[in-house]
Amino acid sequence: MAKSYFKHAYFILSFIISRSIWMVSKLKPWKTNHSTSLPYELFSLDIAAKLHVDSNAIKMSSSDFGNMVKRIPSAVVLPTHITDIIDLVKFSYNSSSPFTIAARGHGHSVRGQAMASNGVVVDMTSLNKSSNGNGIRVSRSSSLGFYADVGGEQLWIDVLKATLEHGLAPVSWTDYLYLTVGGTLSNGGVSGQTFLHGPQISNVHELDVVTGKGEILTCSKHLNPELFYAVLGGLGQFGIITRARIVLDKAPKRVKWIRMLYQDFSSFTGDQEHLISNNKLDYVEGSLILHQSSSNNWKSSFFSNNDQSNIASLLSKHGILYCLEVVKYYDDSNINTIEQELQLLLNQLNFNPGFVFKKDVSFIDFLNRVRAGELYLQSQGQWDVPHPWLNLFVPKSRILDFHAGVFINIIQAQNKSTGPILVYPTNRKKWDNRMSAVTPDEDVFYCVGLLHSAGADNWEALDAQNREILEFCDKSGIMIKQYLPHYSSKDDWMNHFGEKWNNFRDQKLKYDPKMILAPGQRIFR
Ligand code: FAD
Repeated sequence: MAKSYFKHAYFILSFIISRSIWMVSKLKPWKTNHSTSLPYELFSLDIAAKLHVDSNAIKMSSSDFGNMVKRIPSAVVLPTHITDIIDLVKFSYNSSSPFTIAARGHGHSVRGQAMASNGVVVDMTSLNKSSNGNGIRVSRSSSLGFYADVGGEQLWIDVLKATLEHGLAPVSWTDYLYLTVGGTLSNGGVSGQTFLHGPQISNVHELDVVTGKGEILTCSKHLNPELFYAVLGGLGQFGIITRARIVLDKAPKRVKWIRMLYQDFSSFTGDQEHLISNNKLDYVEGSLILHQSSSNNWKSSFFSNNDQSNIASLLSKHGILYCLEVVKYYDDSNINTIEQELQLLLNQLNFNPGFVFKKDVSFIDFLNRVRAGELYLQSQGQWDVPHPWLNLFVPKSRILDFHAGVFINIIQAQNKSTGPILVYPTNRKKWDNRMSAVTPDEDVFYCVGLLHSAGADNWEALDAQNREILEFCDKSGIMIKQYLPHYSSKDDWMNHFGEKWNNFRDQKLKYDPKMILAPGQRIFR
Protein backbone atom coordinates (compact mmCIF):
# COMPACT_ATOMS: atom_id res chain seq x y z
CA MET A 1 0.00 0.00 0.00
CA ALA A 2 2.75 2.44 1.14
CA LYS A 3 4.86 1.33 -1.82
CA SER A 4 2.09 2.08 -4.28
CA TYR A 5 1.43 5.48 -2.60
CA PHE A 6 5.12 6.49 -3.00
CA LYS A 7 5.17 5.24 -6.55
CA HIS A 8 2.12 7.36 -7.32
CA ALA A 9 3.56 10.45 -5.57
CA TYR A 10 6.89 9.96 -7.37
CA PHE A 11 5.07 9.81 -10.70
CA ILE A 12 3.10 13.01 -10.00
CA LEU A 13 6.22 14.84 -8.78
CA SER A 14 8.31 13.87 -11.79
CA PHE A 15 5.47 14.88 -14.10
CA ILE A 16 5.27 18.32 -12.42
CA ILE A 17 9.06 18.78 -12.61
CA SER A 18 9.35 17.75 -16.26
CA ARG A 19 6.36 19.90 -17.18
CA SER A 20 7.92 22.89 -15.37
CA ILE A 21 11.23 22.41 -17.18
CA TRP A 22 9.38 22.27 -20.48
CA MET A 23 7.42 25.41 -19.67
CA VAL A 24 10.49 27.29 -18.49
CA SER A 25 12.32 26.30 -21.66
CA LYS A 26 9.40 27.72 -23.63
CA LEU A 27 9.22 30.96 -21.71
CA LYS A 28 12.87 31.53 -20.84
CA PRO A 29 13.74 34.33 -23.22
CA TRP A 30 10.63 36.34 -22.49
CA LYS A 31 10.26 36.57 -18.72
CA THR A 32 6.51 36.67 -19.22
CA ASN A 33 3.34 34.66 -18.85
CA HIS A 34 2.16 35.02 -22.47
CA SER A 35 1.12 31.66 -23.93
CA THR A 36 2.36 30.72 -27.36
CA SER A 37 1.73 28.24 -30.11
CA LEU A 38 5.25 28.64 -31.52
CA PRO A 39 7.55 25.59 -31.60
CA TYR A 40 9.74 25.74 -28.51
CA GLU A 41 12.89 24.89 -30.55
CA LEU A 42 12.62 28.47 -31.83
CA PHE A 43 13.79 29.61 -28.43
CA SER A 44 17.09 27.79 -28.69
CA LEU A 45 18.10 29.95 -31.70
CA ASP A 46 20.18 33.14 -31.35
CA ILE A 47 17.10 35.09 -32.36
CA ALA A 48 15.32 34.00 -29.17
CA ALA A 49 16.76 36.99 -27.30
CA LYS A 50 15.03 39.32 -29.80
CA LEU A 51 11.59 37.73 -29.42
CA HIS A 52 9.19 39.71 -27.27
CA VAL A 53 5.80 38.90 -25.84
CA ASP A 54 5.48 41.66 -23.28
CA SER A 55 2.14 43.42 -23.39
CA ASN A 56 3.58 46.58 -25.02
CA ALA A 57 5.12 44.68 -27.91
CA ILE A 58 1.98 42.59 -28.43
CA LYS A 59 -0.30 45.62 -28.19
CA MET A 60 1.74 47.64 -30.67
CA SER A 61 1.72 44.88 -33.26
CA SER A 62 -1.90 43.82 -32.85
CA SER A 63 -3.30 47.16 -34.01
CA ASP A 64 -2.64 49.61 -36.84
CA PHE A 65 -3.51 53.08 -38.13
CA GLY A 66 -6.98 51.82 -39.08
CA ASN A 67 -7.85 51.08 -35.45
CA MET A 68 -10.62 48.73 -36.52
CA VAL A 69 -8.96 45.31 -36.49
CA LYS A 70 -7.08 43.49 -33.73
CA ARG A 71 -5.06 40.34 -34.28
CA ILE A 72 -2.84 39.02 -31.53
CA PRO A 73 0.54 37.56 -32.56
CA SER A 74 2.36 34.94 -30.49
CA ALA A 75 5.51 37.05 -30.47
CA VAL A 76 7.15 40.14 -31.93
CA VAL A 77 10.72 40.05 -33.12
CA LEU A 78 12.89 43.16 -32.95
CA PRO A 79 15.63 42.31 -35.45
CA THR A 80 19.00 43.99 -35.13
CA HIS A 81 20.36 42.46 -38.30
CA ILE A 82 18.91 41.13 -41.56
CA THR A 83 20.21 37.66 -40.63
CA ASP A 84 17.65 37.65 -37.79
CA ILE A 85 14.90 37.85 -40.40
CA ILE A 86 16.53 35.15 -42.52
CA ASP A 87 16.91 32.84 -39.49
CA LEU A 88 13.32 33.37 -38.42
CA VAL A 89 11.80 32.70 -41.85
CA LYS A 90 14.10 29.75 -42.50
CA PHE A 91 13.18 28.24 -39.15
CA SER A 92 9.46 28.52 -39.85
CA TYR A 93 9.88 27.17 -43.38
CA ASN A 94 11.83 24.12 -42.16
CA SER A 95 9.58 23.52 -39.17
CA SER A 96 7.07 20.67 -39.16
CA SER A 97 4.50 23.24 -38.02
CA PRO A 98 5.35 26.48 -39.88
CA PHE A 99 4.02 29.69 -38.32
CA THR A 100 3.08 32.87 -40.13
CA ILE A 101 5.33 35.95 -40.22
CA ALA A 102 4.33 39.53 -40.95
CA ALA A 103 6.81 42.30 -41.67
CA ARG A 104 5.50 45.40 -39.99
CA GLY A 105 6.80 48.63 -41.50
CA HIS A 106 5.24 51.60 -39.77
CA GLY A 107 1.88 49.88 -39.22
CA HIS A 108 -0.01 52.44 -41.30
CA SER A 109 -2.26 49.91 -42.94
CA VAL A 110 -5.91 50.20 -42.01
CA ARG A 111 -7.16 46.57 -42.07
CA GLY A 112 -4.59 44.49 -40.21
CA GLN A 113 -2.43 43.88 -43.30
CA ALA A 114 0.77 43.95 -41.21
CA MET A 115 -0.58 41.68 -38.45
CA ALA A 116 -0.08 37.96 -37.83
CA SER A 117 -2.68 36.27 -35.68
CA ASN A 118 -0.82 33.62 -33.58
CA GLY A 119 2.27 34.17 -35.72
CA VAL A 120 5.32 36.41 -35.43
CA VAL A 121 5.43 40.10 -36.32
CA VAL A 122 8.79 41.45 -37.44
CA ASP A 123 9.11 45.06 -36.35
CA MET A 124 11.17 46.30 -39.32
CA THR A 125 11.91 49.73 -37.82
CA SER A 126 14.03 48.03 -35.15
CA LEU A 127 16.66 47.41 -37.89
CA ASN A 128 16.95 51.13 -38.31
CA LYS A 129 17.37 51.73 -34.59
CA SER A 130 20.23 49.23 -34.41
CA SER A 131 21.87 50.65 -37.59
CA ASN A 132 22.55 47.12 -38.75
CA GLY A 133 20.04 47.28 -41.57
CA ASN A 134 20.86 48.74 -44.93
CA GLY A 135 20.53 52.39 -43.92
CA ILE A 136 20.49 54.96 -46.74
CA ARG A 137 23.44 55.19 -49.13
CA VAL A 138 23.59 57.50 -52.15
CA SER A 139 25.64 56.43 -55.20
CA ARG A 140 25.99 57.03 -58.90
CA SER A 141 26.71 54.74 -61.84
CA SER A 142 27.07 55.48 -65.53
CA SER A 143 24.15 53.20 -66.40
CA LEU A 144 21.72 54.20 -63.62
CA GLY A 145 22.71 57.76 -62.81
CA PHE A 146 22.10 58.70 -59.15
CA TYR A 147 20.35 56.20 -56.90
CA ALA A 148 19.94 55.41 -53.19
CA ASP A 149 20.26 51.97 -51.61
CA VAL A 150 17.75 52.08 -48.83
CA GLY A 151 16.75 49.56 -46.15
CA GLY A 152 13.15 48.32 -46.44
CA GLU A 153 12.65 49.57 -42.88
CA GLN A 154 13.51 53.19 -43.69
CA LEU A 155 10.88 55.92 -43.49
CA TRP A 156 10.51 58.01 -46.64
CA ILE A 157 11.04 61.20 -44.60
CA ASP A 158 14.51 59.91 -43.69
CA VAL A 159 15.21 58.98 -47.31
CA LEU A 160 14.26 62.54 -48.28
CA LYS A 161 16.47 64.14 -45.65
CA ALA A 162 19.47 61.91 -46.44
CA THR A 163 19.25 62.40 -50.21
CA LEU A 164 18.73 66.16 -49.94
CA GLU A 165 22.14 66.36 -48.31
CA HIS A 166 23.48 65.40 -51.76
CA GLY A 167 21.15 67.83 -53.56
CA LEU A 168 19.12 64.82 -54.76
CA ALA A 169 15.71 63.27 -54.05
CA PRO A 170 13.46 60.40 -55.16
CA VAL A 171 11.02 61.49 -57.87
CA SER A 172 7.83 59.70 -56.82
CA TRP A 173 6.17 60.18 -53.44
CA THR A 174 3.24 59.48 -51.20
CA ASP A 175 1.37 62.40 -49.62
CA TYR A 176 2.61 61.35 -46.20
CA LEU A 177 6.24 60.46 -45.54
CA TYR A 178 6.15 58.54 -42.24
CA LEU A 179 5.67 55.26 -44.11
CA THR A 180 8.37 52.67 -44.74
CA VAL A 181 9.97 51.95 -48.09
CA GLY A 182 9.03 48.24 -47.76
CA GLY A 183 5.44 49.14 -46.85
CA THR A 184 4.75 51.44 -49.81
CA LEU A 185 6.63 49.28 -52.33
CA SER A 186 4.39 46.39 -51.27
CA ASN A 187 1.42 48.48 -52.42
CA GLY A 188 2.37 51.05 -55.05
CA GLY A 189 3.06 54.46 -53.56
CA VAL A 190 0.93 57.08 -55.31
CA SER A 191 0.60 60.84 -55.13
CA GLY A 192 0.44 63.89 -57.37
CA GLN A 193 3.77 63.00 -59.03
CA THR A 194 2.52 59.59 -60.25
CA PHE A 195 1.15 60.90 -63.57
CA LEU A 196 4.66 62.06 -64.49
CA HIS A 197 7.02 59.50 -62.94
CA GLY A 198 4.76 56.56 -62.21
CA PRO A 199 4.13 55.19 -58.71
CA GLN A 200 7.05 54.53 -56.34
CA ILE A 201 7.15 50.92 -57.58
CA SER A 202 8.03 52.22 -61.06
CA ASN A 203 11.10 53.96 -59.64
CA VAL A 204 13.06 51.04 -58.22
CA HIS A 205 16.14 49.53 -59.90
CA GLU A 206 16.78 46.58 -57.63
CA LEU A 207 15.62 44.83 -54.44
CA ASP A 208 17.01 42.45 -51.82
CA VAL A 209 14.24 40.16 -50.65
CA VAL A 210 14.07 37.44 -47.96
CA THR A 211 11.70 34.90 -49.53
CA GLY A 212 9.27 32.66 -47.69
CA LYS A 213 11.94 29.92 -47.81
CA GLY A 214 14.38 32.10 -45.88
CA GLU A 215 16.66 32.74 -48.88
CA ILE A 216 17.92 36.25 -49.53
CA LEU A 217 17.78 37.08 -53.23
CA THR A 218 18.73 40.18 -55.16
CA CYS A 219 16.31 40.90 -57.98
CA SER A 220 15.89 43.47 -60.75
CA LYS A 221 14.57 43.67 -64.31
CA HIS A 222 17.51 41.48 -65.33
CA LEU A 223 18.20 39.33 -62.27
CA ASN A 224 15.38 37.13 -60.90
CA PRO A 225 12.90 39.35 -62.78
CA GLU A 226 9.88 37.20 -61.82
CA LEU A 227 10.53 37.91 -58.15
CA PHE A 228 11.25 41.60 -58.81
CA TYR A 229 7.94 42.21 -60.56
CA ALA A 230 5.99 39.99 -58.14
CA VAL A 231 7.26 41.89 -55.08
CA LEU A 232 6.45 45.37 -56.48
CA GLY A 233 2.86 45.92 -55.37
CA GLY A 234 2.86 42.28 -54.18
CA LEU A 235 1.28 42.98 -50.76
CA GLY A 236 4.24 41.37 -48.98
CA GLN A 237 3.34 37.90 -50.31
CA PHE A 238 6.66 36.82 -51.83
CA GLY A 239 9.33 38.12 -49.52
CA ILE A 240 10.45 40.73 -47.04
CA ILE A 241 12.15 43.67 -48.76
CA THR A 242 15.39 44.43 -46.94
CA ARG A 243 16.91 46.80 -49.52
CA ALA A 244 15.57 48.84 -52.41
CA ARG A 245 17.64 50.73 -54.95
CA ILE A 246 15.63 53.89 -55.59
CA VAL A 247 15.85 56.27 -58.57
CA LEU A 248 17.09 59.76 -57.64
CA ASP A 249 17.09 63.05 -59.49
CA LYS A 250 18.36 66.54 -58.80
CA ALA A 251 16.21 68.06 -56.04
CA PRO A 252 14.60 71.46 -56.63
CA LYS A 253 14.97 74.07 -53.90
CA ARG A 254 11.46 75.49 -53.85
CA VAL A 255 7.96 74.97 -55.20
CA LYS A 256 5.06 77.10 -56.35
CA TRP A 257 2.00 75.49 -54.82
CA ILE A 258 -1.40 76.49 -56.20
CA ARG A 259 -5.02 75.57 -55.47
CA MET A 260 -7.99 76.50 -57.62
CA LEU A 261 -11.69 75.96 -56.96
CA TYR A 262 -14.36 74.68 -59.31
CA GLN A 263 -18.09 74.35 -58.90
CA ASP A 264 -18.42 72.07 -61.92
CA PHE A 265 -16.98 68.56 -61.76
CA SER A 266 -16.50 68.06 -65.49
CA SER A 267 -14.55 71.33 -65.85
CA PHE A 268 -12.43 70.22 -62.89
CA THR A 269 -11.65 66.76 -64.30
CA GLY A 270 -11.24 68.17 -67.81
CA ASP A 271 -8.53 70.52 -66.52
CA GLN A 272 -6.86 67.77 -64.49
CA GLU A 273 -6.74 65.49 -67.54
CA HIS A 274 -5.34 68.31 -69.66
CA LEU A 275 -2.60 68.98 -67.09
CA ILE A 276 -1.50 65.35 -66.79
CA SER A 277 -1.27 65.08 -70.57
CA ASN A 278 1.19 67.91 -71.14
CA ASN A 279 3.80 67.21 -68.41
CA LYS A 280 4.39 70.89 -67.62
CA LEU A 281 3.74 70.52 -63.89
CA ASP A 282 5.44 68.40 -61.25
CA TYR A 283 2.39 67.48 -59.20
CA VAL A 284 -1.36 67.34 -59.88
CA GLU A 285 -3.94 66.29 -57.29
CA GLY A 286 -7.47 67.30 -56.37
CA SER A 287 -10.07 66.98 -53.65
CA LEU A 288 -13.70 67.57 -52.79
CA ILE A 289 -14.83 70.33 -50.46
CA LEU A 290 -18.09 69.53 -48.68
CA HIS A 291 -19.69 70.96 -45.56
CA GLN A 292 -18.46 67.91 -43.65
CA SER A 293 -15.10 67.67 -45.48
CA SER A 294 -13.60 71.11 -45.11
CA SER A 295 -11.08 73.04 -47.21
CA ASN A 296 -8.36 72.78 -44.55
CA ASN A 297 -7.74 69.36 -43.02
CA TRP A 298 -4.90 67.20 -41.71
CA LYS A 299 -3.65 66.59 -45.25
CA SER A 300 -2.55 70.19 -45.30
CA SER A 301 -3.63 73.46 -43.85
CA PHE A 302 -3.41 75.70 -46.89
CA PHE A 303 -6.08 78.41 -46.76
CA SER A 304 -5.98 81.54 -44.59
CA ASN A 305 -9.01 82.38 -42.40
CA ASN A 306 -10.08 84.97 -44.92
CA ASP A 307 -9.83 82.49 -47.81
CA GLN A 308 -11.79 79.96 -45.79
CA SER A 309 -14.69 82.33 -45.25
CA ASN A 310 -14.82 83.14 -49.01
CA ILE A 311 -14.76 79.43 -49.77
CA ALA A 312 -17.51 78.80 -47.22
CA SER A 313 -19.82 81.30 -48.98
CA LEU A 314 -19.16 79.70 -52.36
CA LEU A 315 -19.76 76.28 -50.80
CA SER A 316 -23.08 77.32 -49.28
CA LYS A 317 -24.24 78.33 -52.80
CA HIS A 318 -23.20 75.05 -54.47
CA GLY A 319 -23.12 72.43 -51.70
CA ILE A 320 -19.97 70.86 -53.14
CA LEU A 321 -16.75 72.28 -54.60
CA TYR A 322 -13.73 70.74 -56.30
CA CYS A 323 -10.21 71.84 -55.48
CA LEU A 324 -7.46 71.39 -58.06
CA GLU A 325 -3.99 71.35 -56.50
CA VAL A 326 -0.85 71.75 -58.59
CA VAL A 327 2.83 72.32 -57.98
CA LYS A 328 5.72 73.46 -60.09
CA TYR A 329 9.25 73.00 -58.79
CA TYR A 330 11.84 75.69 -59.32
CA ASP A 331 15.38 76.64 -58.43
CA ASP A 332 17.94 79.27 -59.40
CA SER A 333 17.86 78.21 -63.06
CA ASN A 334 14.19 79.23 -63.60
CA ILE A 335 13.59 81.63 -60.73
CA ASN A 336 13.04 84.51 -63.16
CA THR A 337 10.61 82.72 -65.46
CA ILE A 338 8.60 80.51 -63.12
CA GLU A 339 5.74 83.00 -62.58
CA GLN A 340 5.32 83.53 -66.29
CA GLU A 341 5.40 79.79 -67.02
CA LEU A 342 2.72 79.21 -64.42
CA GLN A 343 0.54 82.05 -65.62
CA LEU A 344 0.53 80.58 -69.14
CA LEU A 345 -0.69 77.28 -67.71
CA LEU A 346 -3.34 78.85 -65.48
CA ASN A 347 -4.69 80.88 -68.39
CA GLN A 348 -5.79 77.62 -70.02
CA LEU A 349 -7.86 76.50 -67.01
CA ASN A 350 -11.55 76.93 -66.15
CA PHE A 351 -11.62 77.43 -62.38
CA ASN A 352 -13.97 79.92 -60.71
CA PRO A 353 -12.48 83.38 -61.32
CA GLY A 354 -11.07 84.79 -58.11
CA PHE A 355 -10.70 81.38 -56.51
CA VAL A 356 -7.01 80.75 -57.06
CA PHE A 357 -4.66 80.57 -54.07
CA LYS A 358 -0.87 80.47 -54.17
CA LYS A 359 1.98 79.58 -51.86
CA ASP A 360 5.73 79.51 -52.28
CA VAL A 361 7.44 76.99 -49.98
CA SER A 362 10.61 74.93 -49.75
CA PHE A 363 10.66 71.52 -51.47
CA ILE A 364 10.89 69.66 -48.15
CA ASP A 365 8.04 71.66 -46.58
CA PHE A 366 5.85 70.81 -49.54
CA LEU A 367 6.67 67.08 -49.50
CA ASN A 368 6.30 66.90 -45.72
CA ARG A 369 3.06 68.92 -45.73
CA VAL A 370 0.97 66.31 -43.87
CA ARG A 371 3.24 66.19 -40.82
CA ALA A 372 1.97 69.42 -39.24
CA GLY A 373 -1.64 68.19 -39.45
CA GLU A 374 -0.62 64.86 -37.93
CA LEU A 375 1.17 66.49 -35.00
CA TYR A 376 -1.81 68.75 -34.37
CA LEU A 377 -4.26 65.83 -34.37
CA GLN A 378 -1.93 63.82 -32.14
CA SER A 379 -1.88 66.69 -29.65
CA GLN A 380 -5.71 66.65 -29.66
CA GLY A 381 -5.87 62.84 -29.28
CA GLN A 382 -7.55 62.63 -32.70
CA TRP A 383 -4.89 60.79 -34.73
CA ASP A 384 -5.28 57.32 -33.19
CA VAL A 385 -8.97 57.01 -34.02
CA PRO A 386 -10.67 54.49 -36.35
CA HIS A 387 -9.94 55.14 -40.03
CA PRO A 388 -12.41 53.32 -42.29
CA TRP A 389 -10.60 54.31 -45.48
CA LEU A 390 -11.49 53.27 -48.99
CA ASN A 391 -8.99 53.85 -51.81
CA LEU A 392 -10.03 53.17 -55.37
CA PHE A 393 -8.71 53.47 -58.91
CA VAL A 394 -11.59 54.55 -61.16
CA PRO A 395 -11.39 54.37 -64.97
CA LYS A 396 -11.52 57.79 -66.62
CA SER A 397 -14.42 56.74 -68.88
CA ARG A 398 -16.68 56.33 -65.82
CA ILE A 399 -15.52 59.16 -63.56
CA LEU A 400 -18.64 61.26 -64.27
CA ASP A 401 -20.89 58.29 -63.39
CA PHE A 402 -18.81 57.74 -60.27
CA HIS A 403 -19.24 61.40 -59.38
CA ALA A 404 -23.02 61.27 -59.72
CA GLY A 405 -23.48 57.88 -58.04
CA VAL A 406 -20.89 58.11 -55.28
CA PHE A 407 -19.86 61.71 -54.56
CA ILE A 408 -23.35 63.18 -54.95
CA ASN A 409 -25.85 60.40 -54.26
CA ILE A 410 -23.99 58.65 -51.48
CA ILE A 411 -21.34 60.86 -49.90
CA GLN A 412 -23.00 64.27 -50.15
CA ALA A 413 -26.51 62.87 -49.61
CA GLN A 414 -25.60 60.86 -46.51
CA ASN A 415 -23.51 63.64 -45.02
CA LYS A 416 -21.42 61.23 -42.91
CA SER A 417 -17.92 61.71 -44.33
CA THR A 418 -15.31 63.15 -42.06
CA GLY A 419 -11.94 63.64 -43.70
CA PRO A 420 -10.20 64.45 -46.96
CA ILE A 421 -11.70 63.06 -50.17
CA LEU A 422 -9.08 62.91 -52.91
CA VAL A 423 -9.67 62.61 -56.63
CA TYR A 424 -6.96 62.98 -59.27
CA PRO A 425 -6.06 61.28 -62.55
CA THR A 426 -2.93 59.45 -63.49
CA ASN A 427 -1.40 57.79 -66.57
CA ARG A 428 -1.38 53.99 -66.80
CA LYS A 429 1.60 53.99 -69.17
CA LYS A 430 3.75 54.89 -66.15
CA TRP A 431 2.84 51.54 -64.50
CA ASP A 432 4.59 48.37 -65.62
CA ASN A 433 1.98 45.68 -66.17
CA ARG A 434 4.46 42.97 -65.13
CA MET A 435 4.28 44.26 -61.54
CA SER A 436 1.75 42.73 -59.14
CA ALA A 437 -0.05 46.05 -58.60
CA VAL A 438 -3.36 46.19 -60.45
CA THR A 439 -4.98 49.15 -62.18
CA PRO A 440 -8.08 49.63 -64.32
CA ASP A 441 -7.68 48.74 -67.96
CA GLU A 442 -7.66 52.32 -69.32
CA ASP A 443 -4.90 54.74 -70.30
CA VAL A 444 -6.02 57.25 -67.68
CA PHE A 445 -7.57 56.36 -64.34
CA TYR A 446 -8.43 58.32 -61.22
CA CYS A 447 -7.03 57.79 -57.74
CA VAL A 448 -9.90 58.28 -55.30
CA GLY A 449 -9.21 58.32 -51.56
CA LEU A 450 -11.99 58.46 -48.98
CA LEU A 451 -9.83 59.14 -45.94
CA HIS A 452 -12.36 59.05 -43.12
CA SER A 453 -11.56 59.65 -39.50
CA ALA A 454 -14.26 58.25 -37.24
CA GLY A 455 -15.13 57.65 -33.61
CA ALA A 456 -15.47 54.32 -31.86
CA ASP A 457 -19.25 54.61 -32.28
CA ASN A 458 -19.57 55.62 -35.94
CA TRP A 459 -16.80 53.91 -37.93
CA GLU A 460 -19.11 51.02 -38.79
CA ALA A 461 -21.59 53.40 -40.43
CA LEU A 462 -18.77 54.75 -42.61
CA ASP A 463 -17.66 51.23 -43.35
CA ALA A 464 -21.21 50.40 -44.42
CA GLN A 465 -21.10 53.46 -46.68
CA ASN A 466 -17.88 52.11 -48.21
CA ARG A 467 -19.60 48.80 -48.94
CA GLU A 468 -22.50 50.68 -50.52
CA ILE A 469 -20.02 52.49 -52.78
CA LEU A 470 -18.44 49.20 -53.85
CA GLU A 471 -21.88 47.71 -54.51
CA PHE A 472 -22.87 50.76 -56.55
CA CYS A 473 -19.75 50.40 -58.71
CA ASP A 474 -20.39 46.70 -59.14
CA LYS A 475 -24.02 47.16 -60.14
CA SER A 476 -23.22 50.06 -62.47
CA GLY A 477 -20.41 48.14 -64.16
CA ILE A 478 -17.75 50.70 -63.12
CA MET A 479 -14.62 48.56 -63.25
CA ILE A 480 -12.83 50.02 -60.25
CA LYS A 481 -9.78 48.45 -58.63
CA GLN A 482 -9.19 48.79 -54.93
CA TYR A 483 -5.85 50.34 -53.95
CA LEU A 484 -4.53 49.06 -50.57
CA PRO A 485 -7.09 46.30 -51.20
CA HIS A 486 -9.06 44.46 -48.56
CA TYR A 487 -11.19 41.43 -49.39
CA SER A 488 -12.68 38.59 -47.42
CA SER A 489 -13.05 35.84 -50.02
CA LYS A 490 -10.71 34.11 -52.43
CA ASP A 491 -13.10 34.85 -55.31
CA ASP A 492 -12.83 38.55 -54.55
CA TRP A 493 -9.03 38.33 -54.61
CA MET A 494 -9.09 36.41 -57.90
CA ASN A 495 -11.40 39.03 -59.32
CA HIS A 496 -9.14 41.81 -58.01
CA PHE A 497 -6.04 40.41 -59.70
CA GLY A 498 -7.98 39.38 -62.82
CA GLU A 499 -5.63 38.11 -65.50
CA LYS A 500 -2.69 38.53 -63.09
CA TRP A 501 -4.12 36.02 -60.60
CA ASN A 502 -2.55 32.83 -62.03
CA ASN A 503 0.91 34.36 -62.08
CA PHE A 504 0.42 35.85 -58.60
CA ARG A 505 -0.55 32.40 -57.24
CA ASP A 506 2.30 30.66 -59.10
CA GLN A 507 4.89 33.09 -57.72
CA LYS A 508 3.46 32.53 -54.23
CA LEU A 509 3.89 28.77 -54.64
CA LYS A 510 7.45 29.35 -55.83
CA TYR A 511 8.68 31.89 -53.28
CA ASP A 512 6.47 31.25 -50.25
CA PRO A 513 5.07 27.73 -50.75
CA LYS A 514 4.17 27.29 -47.07
CA MET A 515 2.13 30.53 -47.06
CA ILE A 516 4.20 32.01 -44.24
CA LEU A 517 4.43 35.67 -45.20
CA ALA A 518 2.03 38.61 -44.80
CA PRO A 519 -0.96 36.60 -43.50
CA GLY A 520 -2.75 39.85 -42.59
CA GLN A 521 -3.57 40.43 -46.26
CA ARG A 522 -5.79 37.30 -46.07
CA ILE A 523 -5.18 36.23 -49.65
CA PHE A 524 -3.99 32.65 -49.23
CA ARG A 525 -5.85 31.20 -46.24
P1 FAD B 1 2.67 48.47 -42.98
O1 FAD B 1 1.27 48.90 -42.73
O2 FAD B 1 3.51 48.22 -41.81
O3 FAD B 1 2.67 47.19 -43.94
C1 FAD B 1 1.86 47.14 -45.09
C2 FAD B 1 2.01 45.78 -45.77
O4 FAD B 1 3.32 45.67 -46.30
C3 FAD B 1 1.83 44.59 -44.83
O5 FAD B 1 1.27 43.52 -45.52
C4 FAD B 1 3.25 44.27 -44.42
O6 FAD B 1 3.39 42.92 -44.02
C5 FAD B 1 4.00 44.58 -45.70
N1 FAD B 1 5.37 45.03 -45.45
C6 FAD B 1 5.81 45.99 -44.62
N2 FAD B 1 7.14 46.12 -44.72
C7 FAD B 1 7.54 45.22 -45.64
C8 FAD B 1 8.79 44.86 -46.19
N3 FAD B 1 9.93 45.46 -45.81
N4 FAD B 1 8.83 43.90 -47.12
C9 FAD B 1 7.71 43.28 -47.54
N5 FAD B 1 6.50 43.56 -47.04
C10 FAD B 1 6.41 44.53 -46.11
N6 FAD B 1 -0.31 55.41 -49.79
C11 FAD B 1 -0.04 55.96 -50.99
O7 FAD B 1 0.25 55.25 -51.95
N7 FAD B 1 -0.08 57.31 -51.16
C12 FAD B 1 -0.33 58.16 -50.14
O8 FAD B 1 -0.35 59.36 -50.34
C13 FAD B 1 -0.60 57.61 -48.86
N8 FAD B 1 -0.84 58.42 -47.81
C14 FAD B 1 -1.06 57.86 -46.59
C15 FAD B 1 -1.27 58.70 -45.50
C16 FAD B 1 -1.49 58.18 -44.25
C17 FAD B 1 -1.72 59.11 -43.08
C18 FAD B 1 -1.52 56.78 -44.08
C19 FAD B 1 -1.81 56.18 -42.73
C20 FAD B 1 -1.33 55.92 -45.15
C21 FAD B 1 -1.09 56.45 -46.42
N9 FAD B 1 -0.87 55.64 -47.53
C22 FAD B 1 -0.59 56.20 -48.74
C23 FAD B 1 -0.97 54.17 -47.43
C24 FAD B 1 0.37 53.54 -47.19
O9 FAD B 1 1.21 53.67 -48.32
C25 FAD B 1 0.25 52.04 -46.92
O10 FAD B 1 -0.66 51.79 -45.89
C26 FAD B 1 1.61 51.46 -46.56
O11 FAD B 1 1.53 50.07 -46.53
C27 FAD B 1 2.02 51.94 -45.21
O12 FAD B 1 3.39 51.69 -45.00
P2 FAD B 1 3.84 51.03 -43.65
O13 FAD B 1 5.30 51.11 -43.61
O14 FAD B 1 3.11 51.60 -42.49
O15 FAD B 1 3.36 49.51 -43.95
